[in-house]
Amino acid sequence: IPVDRIRNFSIIAHVDHGKSTLADRLLEFTGAIKRGHNQVLDKLQVERERGITVKAQSASLLYNYNRQEYLLNLIDTPGHVDFSNEVSRSLSACQGVILLVDANDGVQAQTVANFYLAFGNDLVIVPVLNKIDLKQADPDRVCGQLKSLFDIEPDSVLRISAKLGTGIEKVLEAIVTRLPSPVVDRNAKFRALLFDSSYDKYRGVLSLVYIRDGSICVGDSITSCHTKKNYEVKTLSLLRPEEVGVNKLVSGQIGLIGCNMRSSKEAYIGDTLHHSENDSVEPLQGFHPSRPMVFAGIYPMDQSQHINLRSAIEKLTLNDSAVTVDMDTSPALGQGWRLGFLGLLHLEVFSQRLQQEYGAEPILTAPSVTYKIKLKPTKQNIKDGTDIIFVNNPANFPESFKIEESFEPMVLGTIITPDKYLGPIISLCMERRGTQRSAMNIDNDRVMLQYDLPLCEIVLDFHDTLKTISSGYASFDYEDNGYQSSNLIKLVILLNSIAVDELSTIVHITKAQMIGRKLVLKLKDIIPRQMVQIAIQACVNGKVLARENIKAYRKDVTAKLYGGDITRRMKLLAQQAAGKKKMRMVANISLPRETFIDVLKK
Ligand code: GDP
Ligand code: MG
Repeated sequence: IPVDRIRNFSIIAHVDHGKSTLADRLLEFTGAIKRGHNQVLDKLQVERERGITVKAQSASLLYNYNRQEYLLNLIDTPGHVDFSNEVSRSLSACQGVILLVDANDGVQAQTVANFYLAFGNDLVIVPVLNKIDLKQADPDRVCGQLKSLFDIEPDSVLRISAKLGTGIEKVLEAIVTRLPSPVVDRNAKFRALLFDSSYDKYRGVLSLVYIRDGSICVGDSITSCHTKKNYEVKTLSLLRPEEVGVNKLVSGQIGLIGCNMRSSKEAYIGDTLHHSENDSVEPLQGFHPSRPMVFAGIYPMDQSQHINLRSAIEKLTLNDSAVTVDMDTSPALGQGWRLGFLGLLHLEVFSQRLQQEYGAEPILTAPSVTYKIKLKPTKQNIKDGTDIIFVNNPANFPESFKIEESFEPMVLGTIITPDKYLGPIISLCMERRGTQRSAMNIDNDRVMLQYDLPLCEIVLDFHDTLKTISSGYASFDYEDNGYQSSNLIKLVILLNSIAVDELSTIVHITKAQMIGRKLVLKLKDIIPRQMVQIAIQACVNGKVLARENIKAYRKDVTAKLYGGDITRRMKLLAQQAAGKKKMRMVANISLPRETFIDVLKK
């Protein structure tokens, strides 16, 4: 197929607006799959349950238009900006996108974020309204939203029902007629953009590539621009959408390369591959590794499960190179790991996969973020460049007298809501230390708000709270927005005047009192009474913000037995002793492991 008959495109949409259903219809229509197959492109169970596409999956379609055959490469991107790096990379192989919007729900927060990703990449945007079969669908109104938000002309908007298969041919025609063909050079030296990877039990790492120039054959030797490592091509395949093995891939095609990479950490997303003998090739685009934004500690329920959990994490990270893994130990929870994720959804999806695919039930601590700290200059730290440090674990937060300035990660949040929920939503954003950037009516009774928000304020339960106060109608999305100077302090919990490191947290100064109070009350509730009185204090820089006492009492498990049966008495005493072993001693107070789990989870 000549280059001018190739089109590369993606479908972008808010969750549940029908991306997978439309992809199925396009595959059916072009004969790649039989009718009645559902959601071929979403392979993982998590994706089915949550209705999101996590790993990019792609397919090549053949379509006849005006008696000529076209090759349409569908590049399935993850639908959420949590994975915005993956989205951008996949988009960099495209010339256009289908912007799919539910004709009943209208434009939502992710629609906005996705539109700007495509727009920023200079892609042709084909606007499509889906679900026009629904009784409540109001396509004219949604066209109005697209016009006011993105300046999209209503007569360029297609109207379809992916479910019923109405208007599918119009979508394929628009791809052929509105999108340019890709810039590729079949005579140039081989260059391919690596934009995704997966792990196959038998073939090892498979890299999903877009062949921009030249061609590649099985047996060729190839080199990565980024790592300079050499590999031998063992297998090549096209995706239609099942894999079809081939001996050669040529420019304009999308395919899988199997070569002797040992782990998916070697398959750098965004890397350029070339033939080993041509070491003068230019990389296709700048290479930016993804940066984790949200961190959580993970520990086995009990330490005998340590090895199982480790192998589960290893297997999952083989397929998801964006997760970072570091060893971590907690005096209360034992040996574990600190994992870094691209965002909240990424974290949720990972922990859900961990449970589904491996049956592991780990303890996951509440998510935290990475703070940036500029230390007061000393001769030493200026000399070796350690005056700026990044901290994602409160235990490593420096004492305040050493800190010159602290910074916290920020996001730009987008909220779209019916205007009747505006009041409570604005209060929520203010309570979370948000600053309003803009507020705009997108039609008669819908509003789009944009807020600068500290990431740490949305990692806990922002999204759930937003859904609750808007009866489910408001949608939210966010993007990374760098660091901002902030007044951060370490809130320390003391039990009988001794600091318990794993209970300390980093908080904004205006929240210290409230969070300290809450923590102290919670601990009072869950620490069992003991033989000594326990004083619980929340402190900042040695100043006590909140205090509660737990009165002493003797727990005599045999008191009610009136000296009865001696063996029963021995058994109970032995049980009590075993119970004590599981406790961690802090300042002569024994704390059951559950205390820590309860507090650290939220
Ligand atoms: P995705 O999250 O964007 O991939 O959305 P899905 O393709 O999984 O669709 C979400 C839900 O909307 C599913 O229950 C689909 O059956 C339904 N759906 C998709 N397209 C249509 C349509 O044209 N009409 C109606 N009524 N429902 C649709
Ligand atoms: Mg889907």
